[in-house]
Amino acid sequence: MKHNDGWQPCPRCESNKVKQISRSMMMFAIWCLGIIFLLVGIILWFLLPIAGILFLAAPFALFAPRMNQCKDCNYSWAAKKQKA
Ligand SMILES: [Zn+2]
Repeated sequence: MKHNDGWQPCPRCESNKVKQISRSMMMFAIWCLGIIFLLVGIILWFLLPIAGILFLAAPFALFAPRMNQCKDCNYSWAAKKQKA
């Protein structure tokens, strides 16, 4: 796996086993959640507005900071852009 922008070792345990959660993956996850709420909303109508909010909110994940997660201690934090 390539080290993308903002990659840094774990600030808690200084491990190098850090994975990055990409913004497009986050958007996809929010959309999947929205689809689940939409399907459940067929039965429970009051969940439909939540599904709508999730669909509208999903593109904002593209502007969120990249998240790093440590595989050793499960600590996750927002990656800061580092100037080379
Ligand atoms: Zn760690």
